[in-house]
Amino acid sequence: MRCPYCEKEHNIFEKIEQTKMIFKGEEITFENHYYECEEKGIRFFGGKTGDQNLMRARDAYRKKMGLLTSSEIASIRNKYNLTQKDYSFIFGWGEVTVTRYESNSIQDVTYDELMRRSNEDPYFLLEMLEKNKSNFCDAKYSELRKKIEEKIDRPVLMENLFDRALEIEYSSIDENSIYCGYKKIEKRKIESIIKYIAENISFLTKTKLAKLLWYIDMYNFKKRNISMTGLAYIHMPYGAYPVGYEIIMLMPSMKIEEIENKNCTINRIITCESNLELGAEEIEIIDKVILDYGDMKTKEIVDYMHLEKAYVNTQKNELISYEFAKDIK
Ligand SMILES: [Zn+2]
Repeated sequence: MRCPYCEKEHNIFEKIEQTKMIFKGEEITFENHYYECEEKGIRFFGGKTGDQNLMRARDAYRKKMGLLTSSEIASIRNKYNLTQKDYSFIFGWGEVTVTRYESNSIQDVTYDELMRRSNEDPYFLLEMLEKNKSNFCDAKYSELRKKIEEKIDRPVLMENLFDRALEIEYSSIDENSIYCGYKKIEKRKIESIIKYIAENISFLTKTKLAKLLWYIDMYNFKKRNISMTGLAYIHMPYGAYPVGYEIIMLMPSMKIEEIENKNCTINRIITCESNLELGAEEIEIIDKVILDYGDMKTKEIVDYMHLEKAYVNTQKNELISYEFAKDIK
C-alpha cells in the first residue's frame, strides 16, 4: 500500500489501543483503531476508522451510563423486524430519531427506558403502536401489529390471561384489607406452595388443598400479621374456599388428574409447575400445617374446619376475615 506520509510502498497494519478520554464529562475507555507509518512514526485514520472510533467511544459512554448501545438498539428493532422509521413512529418520535441513535447521537434516559421496555415486553410496544396509530395508514398499522404480535409467545400470553382473571376476581377486595391478610395476591407464590404440598402429601384433593391453603395463610397471619399468599377466603359448605380458586385450578401450571369414584369425580392434584423457591420461614409454616392436617382425609379436615370460629361465626358466601387467625384451634 502506498503510505500517505512517507510516500513509499510498505505494509500498513490496523492497530488497536485502549484509550481513555473524557466524553460528555465522563472518563471512558474505548478501543481506538488506527494505522501507523512505522517509517515516520505517524498515526493516521483512514476510511471509516475515525467514525467507528467515535461510535465505540459513544458506546463506552452508554455502557458506563447504563444506556443501550447502538447495536443493542438495532437488535431490539430487528427482533421485531421493524425499520428505523417505523420503530421511531411507533413511539411517536421523529422520522430519523432511531437512525440517529443507531449511528451518531446518544439517547435521553426517557427514550432509553421506552426502548428497553419494548424489548422486554411486546405488549408495551403494542400499547405504543396503539397510542401513535395516527402515524400510520391502516395497512401499515395492521402489518406492524402482526409483526409485534409474532413476538408474544403463547405461554406468556396464557400466563397474563390468568393474572388478569385473578386481578378481576380480586378487584372488589382491597389488597390492604384484613380479608386478604394485608397482602396483594401472589400467583407465583401460590404455585410454589401447591407444588410443595403436592410433593409432601400422597393423595391431595382439590378440596383438601383449599383447606390446607387456608390453614397456611391463617398460621402465617397468626405469626406475622400478614397472609402468605394474599388469597381471600369465603365461607362455603365445604369450609373456607379461596376466592378465584377455580381460576387457579385451571392454570396451565396445575397438573390434575380426574378419578372416577362411584358417582362422583375426585380431582387429585399431582403437582404444580413452579421455579420460585420458598423461604425457610414459609416452609416452616407449611410443614407445620402438613404435620397437623396432612394425614386427615378430605372429609375429616372439612368436619374439623366446620368447628373453627372462623366458620361458625360467618355466613354462607361471606368473606372470612383473617381476624379469626387468633382463634384457630
Ligand atoms: Zn509510511
